[in-house]
Amino acid sequence: MEPIDRLRLLSQQMAFEPDADLRPDGTPLVPPDCLARRADELYVRPAVMPNGRRIRLLKTQLSSFCERDCHYCAFRAGRDFRRAAFPPEEFARLFLELHRRGIAEGLFLSSGLAGGGVRTQDRLIAVAEILRLRFHYRGYLHLKIMPGAERAQVERAMQLADRVSVNLEAPNRGRLARLAPHKAFDDELLAPLRWIEETRRSQPAQRGWNGRWPSSTTQFVAGGADESDLELLQATDFLYRLLHLQRAYFMAFSPVPDTPLAAHPPTPPRRQLRLYQASFLLRDYGFSVEEMPFEEDGNLPEQIDPKLAWAQQNLAGAPVEVNRADRELLLRVPGIGRRGVEAILRARREGRLRDLSALKKLGVQTERAAPFLLFDGRRSPTQPALF
Ligand code: SF4
Repeated sequence: MEPIDRLRLLSQQMAFEPDADLRPDGTPLVPPDCLARRADELYVRPAVMPNGRRIRLLKTQLSSFCERDCHYCAFRAGRDFRRAAFPPEEFARLFLELHRRGIAEGLFLSSGLAGGGVRTQDRLIAVAEILRLRFHYRGYLHLKIMPGAERAQVERAMQLADRVSVNLEAPNRGRLARLAPHKAFDDELLAPLRWIEETRRSQPAQRGWNGRWPSSTTQFVAGGADESDLELLQATDFLYRLLHLQRAYFMAFSPVPDTPLAAHPPTPPRRQLRLYQASFLLRDYGFSVEEMPFEEDGNLPEQIDPKLAWAQQNLAGAPVEVNRADRELLLRVPGIGRRGVEAILRARREGRLRDLSALKKLGVQTERAAPFLLFDGRRSPTQPALF
């Protein structure tokens, strides 16, 4: 196969691993049938950078050969499909050509495991070293950390990449055993995430290629091991608070033919959405896991946004005073995001906020916020009628 055809094959296969990055029109996930529609294309897709910039990101594997047998995975050993692989030098040259032509502005590079985690990680690092050191590539680079990679390799990857990630796949050891019986939760997956954080803390002066250490993320296969949202969010909370991950991704489980989980029901997209909403409440809005509105089975209600569900339980009888509430309390009101809170605090320095129309001008979703707000002891009258 020509190199570009191999890259087409490998990158299109990455559509099996969706994440929640946005398209330019704001729609979330890449639908699974994109594989067919993009048969002649590389899997280059818009991705949002940490600074908010959108770039065209080539998502690909270096190799789709894999010696592991994870139960949910399309690339598992022994599964019959067309596989391909690149030596590091050939891949780096091809990617650089795509970059020079403006086809791909950034690279997300993963790989199936061949010859063990250490050797596979070496090949990913070799690509990064060729790009950064020999070709002086300064674009975005996201490197996967392979199960079984060594600590020195993790640190080397951190010196070369803008983001590194380790897919935990499941929230704990027991659940992982049902998804990937030959992956070691603590030693192969959690340990590298700890090393990343320890490196950032212990070596603040020795930073990555562009003067700062890369961010770190993980991904869970939501629903594949019958785990609850509570388990997923407990793990997420731990990762945000103690290991300072930038983001946890939740891939809604989707059964892959010819795998042990082929008959397992798919996870509804709505569950994935609620997990993202709850994870942002943990990361950005000051909520704790205990405050999440779990149902008896440990799952979030699918029909209602968790922030709204919390507010209905906690704020409906104790509305928030717009002119007196502190930042933390304002953040808990549905329809008020972080920017809205800052706008309210700025506006309060100029004078009192009298009604919903004043909040609307500040970017608040007043239809959602109205039931939970008071303006100096009163509910706002409905919007004045237009004459
Ligand atoms: S190690 Fe990775 S690529 Fe290989 S079967 Fe498991 S999840 Fe799939």
